Amino acid sequence: MTQYQLPFDNPALWDGFGSTQPPRTNPHRGLDFPQAGGTPIPSIADGTISYKGSSSVLGQVTVVEHPDGMFSGYSHSWNASPLNVGDPVARGQIVNYVGTSGSASTGNHLHLTLSVERLGVYSGQVQDPYPYIMDRLEPDPPPEPVASDLWTTDGALRPSTTITSASGLIRITVSAYGAGALVTYSIAGVRDRGEAIANWAAKTAELLLTDVSEASTSRTWIQFIPQNVAATVRVECYGLRPGAFVASPLIVVEAVA
Ligand SMILES: [Zn+2]
Repeated sequence: MTQYQLPFDNPALWDGFGSTQPPRTNPHRGLDFPQAGGTPIPSIADGTISYKGSSSVLGQVTVVEHPDGMFSGYSHSWNASPLNVGDPVARGQIVNYVGTSGSASTGNHLHLTLSVERLGVYSGQVQDPYPYIMDRLEPDPPPEPVASDLWTTDGALRPSTTITSASGLIRITVSAYGAGALVTYSIAGVRDRGEAIANWAAKTAELLLTDVSEASTSRTWIQFIPQNVAATVRVECYGLRPGAFVASPLIVVEAVA
């Protein structure tokens, strides 16, 4: 599916598709994005410049044909597009600059149209670009994997969590996704009258991440510690093979009443 984007980062919209707000005498055929004069206008999807020209009403107009058969039109631009008919454009590539040319414009803005017709920007069938774009945005990238050198040598992934429990019970929940990796925990480092008591429960439980999957795997362990004494819980990851990784780790350590 052809991926689209909104033309600008700021969400400002003057007037929507189909608007009959005065002084309009016909329903609005596009979307109006107010922007400072000279703001670059990106193509909302990959395509080819299929038309550049001007009219008394829409001013300087650029049209891009997209692989899915749609034509996006960019009107009221500052000047003629610096690109030529037949030039390929990538999504986000600048096709022109915001202006206020044409009698239908009352200030610097982009009038964006979407049509199945090459010159639908002027007349003929148009549709609301907004839902069309929003249904075709680039999917969110998968979570960033933890760099392997952060955890393959000494296993450190997160600072320790310190906890006390009146009942002596704590619950440790770890979820993550990854491949070829092992998540373990240890409980240690209680300072009682200046003494450190280490490794009560070192690496007693493990969460094995085997297959590459974007779905998190989760495990919960219940562990005893001395009542009302601060314990530190440290969760660690180990790579089991080259290319192993762990991502989106979520670690919850809580006292159980
Ligand atoms: Zn408009």
